[in-house]
Amino acid sequence: MENNSETAYSFVSQYLFINFLNTINIKKVSVTDFLDEENGLDDWLSLMTQQGILNQQQVEKLYKSPIDVERVKEFRGQWWGYLSVLEGNEIPFTSLATYTEDAPLFIDKTFTPVPSKGGTEGFLALLSFEMIQAFQQGVFNKIKKCESPVCYAFFIDTSGRRKWCSMEVCGNREKARKHYAKKGNV
Ligand SMILES: [Zn+2]
Repeated sequence: MENNSETAYSFVSQYLFINFLNTINIKKVSVTDFLDEENGLDDWLSLMTQQGILNQQQVEKLYKSPIDVERVKEFRGQWWGYLSVLEGNEIPFTSLATYTEDAPLFIDKTFTPVPSKGGTEGFLALLSFEMIQAFQQGVFNKIKKCESPVCYAFFIDTSGRRKWCSMEVCGNREKARKHYAKKGNV
């Protein structure tokens, strides 16, 4: 990433829903919820647009109605919980269909899914649609939580060997920590 958000987010996934889950994270010892910050959701949506994860048409549609931050945080919390305890847990994927029914999506000329409504319903429909697709493509089996003890971020581990959400941020920090720990400095 080459923008100001570099300091806020450790990395940007190609998946909208992963980035959405990662709007809550740990910095040093305190939890940061980017959606609680002033214009937090707007800033996140513009970051997603800058990064090419959302296009102009999708974002314009979402802004047709207000997005209820508390409602989308509730959705985030629910899925955060499911993904934090992946093993042995039945993930209620069918519940996602209720959101795509609330604001059915159409596929535009560029094969981009655009919700038929804006606002909260459109936003949750867009996230749910991507999550259903990711589930069908087996992506959910590759979701991991960053191994850094001070990072909450989820990422998709395509190689099966990735440990950190970001090598630059969390990988290097962990290497440095272990290096100093070995020397007995920490
Ligand atoms: Zn991390």
